[in-house]
Amino acid sequence: MLAGTRVYLDHNASAPLRPEAAAAMTATFTITGNPSSVHREGQALRASIEAARADVAALVGCAPEEVVFTSGATEANAMAIGGRANRVICSGIEHPSVIENIIKIKVLPSNSQGKIKLDHLADELAQLPADGSNHGTAVALMAANNETGVIQPLALAAALCRENGVWLHVDAVQLAGKANLAPVWALSDSLSLSSHKIGGPTGVGALIVRKGRFLERLIGGGGQEMKRRAGTENVPGIVGFGVASRLSRGEIDDWSRIRAQRDRLEEEMRRHVPEVSIFGDEADRLPNTTCAAVPGIAADLLLMRLDLAGIAVSAGSACSAGKISSSPVLEAMGIDACLARGAIRISQGLYTENHHIDRFLAAWGDAVRRVLSHEVTAMVR
Ligand code: PMP
Repeated sequence: MLAGTRVYLDHNASAPLRPEAAAAMTATFTITGNPSSVHREGQALRASIEAARADVAALVGCAPEEVVFTSGATEANAMAIGGRANRVICSGIEHPSVIENIIKIKVLPSNSQGKIKLDHLADELAQLPADGSNHGTAVALMAANNETGVIQPLALAAALCRENGVWLHVDAVQLAGKANLAPVWALSDSLSLSSHKIGGPTGVGALIVRKGRFLERLIGGGGQEMKRRAGTENVPGIVGFGVASRLSRGEIDDWSRIRAQRDRLEEEMRRHVPEVSIFGDEADRLPNTTCAAVPGIAADLLLMRLDLAGIAVSAGSACSAGKISSSPVLEAMGIDACLARGAIRISQGLYTENHHIDRFLAAWGDAVRRVLSHEVTAMVR
C-alpha cells in the first residue's frame, strides 16, 4: 500500500516496490564495476546477476540458463515474436507489446467471457502445410489477461501447437506470482515476465527460452546474456527482480484471501449498483482483478472522482492510460463500445485489506450516484 490515506488498487499496472527488493538494489548501486569485467568488482556484480537468475528460474520452474534478462516484458514479447519473418497467430486480447510487434499477424476472436476460441485456433493451425514448413509460424497467448484477469485455456492451446509443430509463446506477466508457473512453462517454448508486476523495480523483465532453441537477437552488440541480449546488464534492477521472484514464489497460497475479498467487492458493487457489468465474471480469473462498467458513466469521469477521493484504479490497461479510448480487449469480447468506454479496472495486491475495499466501495458508489444525478439534472435543464 502507498503511504498516507491513499488506496492503491492498480497492482496489474505496477505493484509497489518491495522493501526487500529496494534494500538489495540500494546495496548493489554502491558496487563499482561492469559485470563483464574479470576483476573482483566485476565478478561480484556477475555473481549478483547469477543469483537473481536462479531466483527467477525457480519462480518459473526452468533452468537458470533459460532466463534472458531484458528491459521488461515488452522487450521480452518483442524478442519472442518480433524478429520472426513468418506469421504469428494470437488472440485479440493480447497485450500491445505482442500485437504491435508482429509483422504478419492473424488475430483470433475470443468469446464474450474473454477466452480465446480454441476451435478458431485449431482451424487456423489445420491450414498450415503438413510438410514441416510451418515451423516459422508461432502462436502467442497470454496466460491471464491484464484488464479482465481472465485465464486462458493454455493446456488445450499448447496441445494444438504441439500437434502442429508450432512455437508457443506465453505472456505470463499477470499470472506470475499468483499461481505456480511450472505447469505453464512445461507447455511453452518461450515465456515473458515483468519484474514490476511482482514487486520488483520497473524496467526489467525476462524472456525464458527453452534450452537449445534459437531466437533472433533484437539488438546486436556485446555478448551479454549468452549472446541473446546485448547491452551491459541493469544489475540493480536484476537484483531487485530476483528478490521479488524469490518472495512472490512463497506467497502463492496467500492470494486466496484476496480472491475472497475480490468476490465480496463484486457482490457489494452489484448490491450498490445492480446495473453494473463485470467483465469475464463467469470465467476462471486471477484472484485480484475486477473489470467493471456502469452504463452511461464514462471511465475518465469516474477515475477523476475516485482519484480525488484518494483511490487509484485505472481505465482499461494502464499502458494506454492518459488516452482513455475503448479497450481492444473488451472489443474482442464483443462488449458494446459505449459500455466498454466506462470500464474501470480494480486490481488488488497482497497488502490490500478489507478496509481499502470498503473505502473504494463508498467512493465508487458516491461517484456513480453523483455522475448519474448530474446527468439527469443536465438532461432536465
Ligand atoms: N504483458 C502484459 C500482460 C502486461 O500487463 C504488461 C504490462 N502492462 C506487459 C506485457 C509489459 O510489461 P513491461 O511493463 O515490463 O514492459
